Amino acid sequence: TVQKQKHGFQAEVKQLLQLMIHSLYSNKEIFLRELVSNASDAADKLRFLALSDSSLYDNDGELKVRISLDEAAKTITISDNGIGMTQDEVISHLGTIAKSGTKEFFGQLSGDQSKDSQLIGQFGVGFYSAFIVADKVTVKTRKAGAPADSAVEWESTGEGDYTITPIVKASRGTDIILHLRDEETEFLSQWKVESIVTKYSDHISIPVEMYQEGTPERDGEEGEKIPATEGYWKAVNKATALWMRDKSEVSDTEYQEFYKHISHDWTEPLSWSHNKVEGNTNYTSLLYVPKKAPFDLWNREARHGLKLYVQRVFIMDDAEQFMPSYLRFIKGVLDSSDLPLNVSREILQDTKVTQSLRKGCTSRVLKMLEKMAKAEDQTEYQTFWTEFGQVMKEGPAEDFANKDTIAKLLRFASTHNETADQNVSLDAYVSRMKEGQDEIYFIVADSYEAAKHSPHLEVLRKKGIEVLLLSDRVDEWLMQHLTDFEGKKLRSIAKGNLDISKLDDEETKKAQEETEKQFAAVTERFKAALGDQVKAVKTSHRLTDSPACIVTDEFDMSTQMMKLMESVGQ
Ligand code: ADP
Ligand code: MG
Repeated sequence: TVQKQKHGFQAEVKQLLQLMIHSLYSNKEIFLRELVSNASDAADKLRFLALSDSSLYDNDGELKVRISLDEAAKTITISDNGIGMTQDEVISHLGTIAKSGTKEFFGQLSGDQSKDSQLIGQFGVGFYSAFIVADKVTVKTRKAGAPADSAVEWESTGEGDYTITPIVKASRGTDIILHLRDEETEFLSQWKVESIVTKYSDHISIPVEMYQEGTPERDGEEGEKIPATEGYWKAVNKATALWMRDKSEVSDTEYQEFYKHISHDWTEPLSWSHNKVEGNTNYTSLLYVPKKAPFDLWNREARHGLKLYVQRVFIMDDAEQFMPSYLRFIKGVLDSSDLPLNVSREILQDTKVTQSLRKGCTSRVLKMLEKMAKAEDQTEYQTFWTEFGQVMKEGPAEDFANKDTIAKLLRFASTHNETADQNVSLDAYVSRMKEGQDEIYFIVADSYEAAKHSPHLEVLRKKGIEVLLLSDRVDEWLMQHLTDFEGKKLRSIAKGNLDISKLDDEETKKAQEETEKQFAAVTERFKAALGDQVKAVKTSHRLTDSPACIVTDEFDMSTQMMKLMESVGQ
């Protein structure tokens, strides 16, 4: 007797399904992209396992996806002969959300449909999008290498629960059967489905086939066409790995769709860079800058890194060895011919090849950012900086070799434009430096407002000297590593003896010397009275309006750093 078991969805899945059905309605055709994408992932996984156990192919090595339409039954079926799933896998993959960060995700939902649908994208929960168009979904799956009678059927109406039933399935892989809602029967049109596949899944590297009436048209003798008789399966996509194609043959839309496929992000990327490198190392890279930071950008455990292929064979997701940490938001594919097919994370860790690939990929990304930073229209770069600027600021400390390149990419708020926007580059600052000024001035404070109203600024403001206003948490750390830029020292105006006297005229200098003489006796008395409690008592010309300000010694910790240390319990 066949036993059907009922299982409840994890609470988060129920919530997610509600959201899917109600928020993504305007872009419902993406369900097909997600299911085809899963089928293609399943083919990748099988191909990888078959590298060490070719018996898994079981005489069926031509991996593909097939989409069939049944008008009478109102179903659309997506079948693959990929890796398949065991019963346990079905329960954990199609009943729960396994990824880390589930809590953060739900915490961030705002109720604003368009914002929330972007969050779903970042989360990668494509399978559940089937319920946008279907009121019942049936999954039949058999794991590669497992016997026919160990297959499983999963079925759900997308409400509270799903059923699991043991079945017999003749072939390896997964069939996803969508029972379309009455109002979604447009997806039974061959033409419609074919055009969606071409739109979203052209880049998928295995054939996506649809059943076609007739026979493939071919030329008979003397050129006459042989008439169509029966049906056949026809590939409706290009079916070559997109990154192996020539740049000039790939359209922007194709690049964008490919990004969505590998990143699980449903928003378009900001920019990409596609390169074939031949020489000492041989590889192809296709690297993307996303438009939005993922919600887990600051989570140390979050998955990041590139999708790694070796000679077009998928090896692993999230290979983090090829990007420095300050570029952890970059998504993309790296296909190398210099790594062995059986490469593991451990082997990758410290090989020469890894290092040289990492160097190459890092410089590709920096070049792409440089190009964006130099563009006439700065909107794109500002979008990038707002999302990822704080991460980029980790760069000078982490990547000594590229310090100068990274420095040029940094953007700051400054006294030049009186807004909190970080849009002043060091180059722009230098171009505005005063006659005789040979240092770049900055101040770090807890907030933009605090920096902007710092008493330390007064004298510089009076002289019309620009000061960079820093207030991100990472800024103190950044400035410890960014000590100079194109031969000019970066100097905190809150530290040490700020010597801007070079910029004064003779008259001011004389007047200041006079003042110092006048106050000599007073400073002596202060020093005598305060003794060891103070390091020094000096006459200063920093302030013009404020009565007092705190100055730290040049090589002492700044007040911000002290606060930072206190906050981590030092
Ligand atoms: P993601 O693809 O981001 O992992 P999905 O919700 O699209 O998220 O899919 C969830 C999981 O279900 C996949 O990671 C995979 O393990 C499993 N899965 C989905 N479709 C298939 C399939 N056609 N063949 C094998 N496993 C699948
Ligand atoms: Mg998926």
